[in-house]
Amino acid sequence: MGIVEVKNVSKIYPTFRLKDVSFSLEAGKITGFVGRNGSGKTTTIKAMLNLIHPDDGKIAYFGMPLAGHETEIKQRIGYSMGTVSWYPRETIREIVKVTRTFYTSWDDDAYKRYASLFGLEDNKKPIELSAGMKVKFNLLLALSHRAEVLILDEPTSGLDPFSRNELLGVFHTLKDQGVTIFFSTHIISDLEQCADTILYIHDGAIQADCSKKAFMQEYGQAGETLETILLRLERWRDREAFFK
Ligand code: ADP
Repeated sequence: MGIVEVKNVSKIYPTFRLKDVSFSLEAGKITGFVGRNGSGKTTTIKAMLNLIHPDDGKIAYFGMPLAGHETEIKQRIGYSMGTVSWYPRETIREIVKVTRTFYTSWDDDAYKRYASLFGLEDNKKPIELSAGMKVKFNLLLALSHRAEVLILDEPTSGLDPFSRNELLGVFHTLKDQGVTIFFSTHIISDLEQCADTILYIHDGAIQADCSKKAFMQEYGQAGETLETILLRLERWRDREAFFK
């Protein structure tokens, strides 16, 4: 059994359906959740965090169903939705002072270590942070309560290539420390750089869920990169939908 289990999750919107999404996350692995804009990545992540209510399906963390154990589970996971959810005009120091009171497992040493690793100065305010720094601040809060699982919606979007590279390096460091990372992206080089497992979604349905190596073997043709494979699959699936 995986550390996170998503089983048959469906969500119906007027113009979109998330269709029977199932997958599980293996502890200590980095999973890249890839798909074009509008394919259902954020909807899946919101369901995983109980920020929307799926029409069907089950979600469990650490062997416990999310329904009925949300508070306990959220003590042990960290997430970032790409939106700024803290007070933009308070200093990081003030925000941290409040945030730490929510978590029984808050670890001041970890906070100091990661703040220094990320180069975050705690006299700054979120409004003064660059996009990359905001993602790092989200990660810092998650890691300071010793999150075992990180769920990140498009953490690299809007980052310049240098900050992106740096952030993906941080993912590797965290993985080495046993943290499980699940992140969505439409930037294929993110997957090339750091995903162990690829979860590929197209039009609300999971199309592939396997190791990067298995994905290349299963879907790739001679000499193709991950990027060319995914671009070809997208074109092919669009044509399939068109002629259906
Ligand atoms: P992605 O994260 O892959 O870009 P999303 O999960 O954000 O995709 O969106 C998938 C589809 O669901 C989109 O067509 C979007 O318009 C639709 N959608 C998302 N949220 C809502 C909502 N609250 N009400 C209606 N439709 C929505």
